[in-house]
Amino acid sequence: MLNLVMHPKGSIDYKIALAYHLQANFGQALLQDKEIHDLLLQLNQNIEATWKEMVSIGVVRECRDCAVKEGSCCGTGMENSYDEVLLLINLLLGRTLPSQAYDINSCYFLRENGCLLRAREVICVNYLCQRISRSIQKEKLIHLQKTAGEELTTLFMLENHIKKSLKGGGLFKVYMDSFKYSCLLACRSLSNALSLGFKVSSQNRLNLTHL
Ligand code: SF4
Ligand code: SF4
Repeated sequence: MLNLVMHPKGSIDYKIALAYHLQANFGQALLQDKEIHDLLLQLNQNIEATWKEMVSIGVVRECRDCAVKEGSCCGTGMENSYDEVLLLINLLLGRTLPSQAYDINSCYFLRENGCLLRAREVICVNYLCQRISRSIQKEKLIHLQKTAGEELTTLFMLENHIKKSLKGGGLFKVYMDSFKYSCLLACRSLSNALSLGFKVSSQNRLNLTHL
């Protein structure tokens, strides 16, 4: 486990250390909460559905080809959009978090074979670049956005539930600071979706419906 005091507060190393700390101290209790347990299972299924859709309509193929020819768009600093609760969710889903970047010019979580995270931020799940928009039929992208929206809705509910559960542990301020930043990124990702002709069908959830 990484040591919290070794890292500057707010750095990705600090957040990873905090996520491991939370897992060690609260992991079992969180997993025994039926709602969290069920949401984790649901999230895992939703993530699988999003990946299947990305494979079947050709997004994964396009990204592989692009990464080889032009380099991945998972740039350095993208990891800063992750907070300790989302990293904790990845630990609860069985992922291991890294202690260093694989390539200092890329996102901290990018590895040779792609992203090592299972649960990802809105901006990572929903991002559709011009190449993808040009090369894949709009109807297929609309369907993908709907599937991804279900994943993000489940993730949103799970994050909120975990934050509420941890609130009793006196760590609420840390979570709220990170949460505000997540909302900012969600707005940026929504702008992307809206520019593709989607509209928001729910105020509180990231359900996107095509106009
Ligand atoms: S999202 Fe677009 S820019 Fe990023 S790797 Fe895929 S094809 Fe390339
Ligand atoms: S998809 Fe993964 S590797 Fe890419 S920017 Fe997001 S977290 Fe980083």
